Amino acid sequence: MTKRKVGPHVQRRSVVINIRNGREKVRKKYKSKMLSAFQEIADKEADAISKEANKILSERSDKKLESFINEFYNDFEPVISELFAPVGLKYAEAMRFIVEKEVDQELTADELAELIEEIQYYLDGAASQYVGYSKKFLLSALEKSVESVVERVESWRENRPEMAKDEHMTGIESLTAFSVVLMTGYRLKWYAVGKSCPICKKLNGRTVLKKTSFFNKAGEEFKDTAGSVAVFRQTKYPPIHKGCDCIVAAG
Ligand SMILES: [Zn+2]
Repeated sequence: MTKRKVGPHVQRRSVVINIRNGREKVRKKYKSKMLSAFQEIADKEADAISKEANKILSERSDKKLESFINEFYNDFEPVISELFAPVGLKYAEAMRFIVEKEVDQELTADELAELIEEIQYYLDGAASQYVGYSKKFLLSALEKSVESVVERVESWRENRPEMAKDEHMTGIESLTAFSVVLMTGYRLKWYAVGKSCPICKKLNGRTVLKKTSFFNKAGEEFKDTAGSVAVFRQTKYPPIHKGCDCIVAAG
């Protein structure tokens, strides 16, 4: 019996599967740490907001919750950073070793410092986005009723940690890969490997050579027959939408 030949497309597929499996080990190790960080964040905000809202409900005065929400979130960004940044940095560091192995290169001291700065910038941005999102949706819930605020913040306690964990594990992995691959002189390729990304197929196989965006503007080119999604931001790396599990790697 002759051995079946493996075509180039199959080889490429197995390379990307190896990459994904290698990174998955690191993801697995950090999953529960990342989840507990976001659970603690969601618990802190739900505890504080619900307590104040219930107090207001029993006193039947609904003027004060708006200023309480504003004041609470003014001080909440450093709380998020304190919980999320240490685990985020460690996870990025572990992912950095994996991506260095993928390209068989090591970052210089200067490149490493640049990467750490980029991760720090990402983590600060994530904390400020978290606060912005919370404030926006709680104040808009308050336009309906104080009860709606409690409903919203309690639903976050249940659902948001998992979503935040997924978004930021993919984000930090991708930012690390994006930086290491391009700093070491390789071309960066987008791979739509996950089941949840039919729309990302449009990006599959697209490459960049320097630190530029796969999309220049939010929303650009991001509609096809599979539907349309809201693009998170100027897209340099995944996730490009909620639940996106695309990867970027040398290619
Ligand atoms: Zn995707």
